Amino acid sequence: MESVVNVGRWTTNLMNSLAGLASLTIDLDGVRHYRSIHGLEPQKGDDPFLTQGLDCFLDFCADFGIPATLFVVTEDLQNEAIAQRVRRAANEGHEIACHSHCHDYSMSRWNPSQIGDELARSIAAIEGLVGQRPIGFRAPGYNLSETLLDAIETAGFRYDSSLLPSPAYWGARGLVIALKSVGDRPSASLVGNPKAFLPQRGPFRPKRKTKGWRSKTRNLVELPMTAPMGLPWIGTTVVGSEHLGWNLTRLALRSHKPIDLELHPIDVTPEDSVDADLRRVRRDLQVPFVERIRRLRRTVERVAGARRFVPLTEVARRVGAPGAL
Ligand SMILES: [Zn+2]
Repeated sequence: MESVVNVGRWTTNLMNSLAGLASLTIDLDGVRHYRSIHGLEPQKGDDPFLTQGLDCFLDFCADFGIPATLFVVTEDLQNEAIAQRVRRAANEGHEIACHSHCHDYSMSRWNPSQIGDELARSIAAIEGLVGQRPIGFRAPGYNLSETLLDAIETAGFRYDSSLLPSPAYWGARGLVIALKSVGDRPSASLVGNPKAFLPQRGPFRPKRKTKGWRSKTRNLVELPMTAPMGLPWIGTTVVGSEHLGWNLTRLALRSHKPIDLELHPIDVTPEDSVDADLRRVRRDLQVPFVERIRRLRRTVERVAGARRFVPLTEVARRVGAPGAL
């Protein structure tokens, strides 16, 4: 993928100011997304991730005074209970960003007009709910393509944060999809383009390929997620394994770039509100809720001791500042 090129030339001051930043981001994936990944029948009734899990996340951020970034799947805003919580998040100073309208894992493969329609719907839903246009985007399943990046730029987003530079994650996901493909209900997830998961330095301003050898710098910035030594620093690793999570946090803090701890509501939802069949296939849900919160709290305290938490929009603003790139 052409855009995975660091074109940055950083001034010392800017580097220092960015190195002091951390973001807490949460992708609002609902129960149905996990059930479709694991080839399980859809579930009826309330979504515990987007109600109890989201409440817990907002309370957690309030305790620490952290302004987070929420990537919202906007079709869920049709549910008043979920819309209410997203409104609460906006009122409490969190950034509301876009995670597509319907969270289709193959969105990166759609044609430009389909992607454009999807983004327009999603932007309108967020603007209608919180009165502000989103400026950040994260693709479903971290699957980015040049076509999707073109559409994100055209739709007026100022940053994209879809890249998870972790070949290990890509490999593990591919294995799960392959294993599911022989069952009755294959996974709805997509293997994705391995180039999008290659380690890279970021943040950077992606380039757009034009005719011939030339390329043009895009009018948005890319803020990749954090993956020290190619391992994802996300809820699954931080709350799923104390030892691995603690070491990844130590390595993340050594970075000279802004860092991003990416969570999902599943990480902060009590396991007894989740159906047994999903609990059985999710190792992270086998760690008791109280223990998951303890690990997360310990991680966030450690990060807060070394860096300042800001929403991604603040990182994008600084990266996009004159002289930054
Ligand atoms: Zn997602």
